Formats: sequence, structure tokens, C-alpha cells
Amino acid sequence: MAGNMPTIELKKVTKRYRFERRQYEAVSQIDLTIRQGEFLFVVGSSGAGKSTLLKLIAGQVRADAGVVLLDGSDVAPLPLIPSVRIRRAVGYVAQEPRLIHRRTIYDNLYMAAQAGGLNREKDAMERIYKALSIVGMRGVERQFPGELSIGQSRRVELARALVNSPPILVLDELTANLDEDNIWDMLHVLSELNRMGTTVVIQHEGGYATQYS
Ligand code: ADP
Repeated sequence: MAGNMPTIELKKVTKRYRFERRQYEAVSQIDLTIRQGEFLFVVGSSGAGKSTLLKLIAGQVRADAGVVLLDGSDVAPLPLIPSVRIRRAVGYVAQEPRLIHRRTIYDNLYMAAQAGGLNREKDAMERIYKALSIVGMRGVERQFPGELSIGQSRRVELARALVNSPPILVLDELTANLDEDNIWDMLHVLSELNRMGTTVVIQHEGGYATQYS
């Protein structure tokens, strides 16, 4: 866990996309403050801009207007590569799986550790084993992503996001396409991390109560 306790602040944030020569706003003039240790569910209908909001927070896309601040400084990547500072501060799981299929689980996590500035193999190895333990996936290190079930892949993706012990987790549809047991296991892991102080920002289309009641 990082020593500092960053607050995320969005100030009048707008993100536009172009489609067939028209421009429209996926996110319009959002003001939002997320304090360290909060657990935030982002809910809303499809196309409401939830994924875009998460990408803005994780420094994956740049706002067209307004600013996203982490501990007072801009998260936006320039050029579009999140800085080591953001990689360390924010563990991001994208909606579309991003594990590299020709690399082992260990290598996938090792690359994330290196991207976060963890250059000593011994330190990286310890973090990788720890992250896999947290999500209940110790033992899969030598396997390839294609050998895992959907539930296992999503856990490994969460482990990859945890490798740099980030104070903030931004999780896009981490629980999509999982059965109810896997969802509750995942939420249990997240609530434990949150209890230890990690900020969690998660979106799941339609929320949980509506889908599973
Ligand atoms: P949600 O996650 O709530 O479903 P998104 O943030 O994915 O919403 O999308 C918001 C709107 O922006 C949608 O209309 C979507 O089609 C559009 N959009 C998202 N990403 C892109 C993109 N890379 N290029 C063009 N339009 C996009």
C-alpha cells in the first residue's frame, strides 16, 4: 500500500467521440470527488458513459475539457501512455480482456510489475505470488491465459492490477459474464481490499441488485 492517500477529482470533465463526422459527448461536464478508501459502484444504462468515465479516472483517455486530478496533479497521459506514477497508483482492469495469450500468467504479471517500475526480479516475483494469492489463484503461474475459465481469467486480471499494490482499483465490468458464486467471491475479495484501505471504483452494467434479484 502506498504511503500517500490520493484523492481523485474530476472537474467539469467532458469526453467527446466522433462518429460519422458528428461529435457527441460520452461524458459531459462531470464533477466528482472520490476519497481514499471509498467503494464506488458506477451504474447506468448501456452507452451512458460508464466505461469512458473509468478510463478517464485511470488515465487511459484524455478529457477534451476539464481535468482529472490524482492528488492534485493531472492523470491524463501525454502522449497516450499512462505514466509510471499512474500505473503505480491505479490498478485498472479494462472491459475487454487484456492478457497476452502467448505469455504465461507469470509473464503477464511480470510485465505489469515492470511497467509499474518494479525492476528487481525477486521483488516482482514476491508481488506476483502475493497478488495471485489474494485472488485465490496461486498455482496458475505457468499456465497460459487460454487455459483458464472466464472466472479464472478475470481473477488473474485483477491480480495483474494488484501487482503494483495500487491504492486505487478501477474495474470495468470485472464481474461481467460470471456466475453468481464467482461474482460474490470477487466482491468479497474487493471488499477485503477496500477494508484494508484500497479505493475501489467498479462498473457493472445494470448493477447487481437488479440483475440478481
Ligand atoms: P457505457 O460503459 O456506459 O456503456 P461507454 O463509456 O462505453 O458507455 O460509451 C459511451 C458512449 O460513447 C457510447 O455511445 C459509445 O458508443 C461511445 N463510445 C465509447 N467509446 C468510443 C470510441 N472509442 N469511439 C467512439 N465512440 C465511443
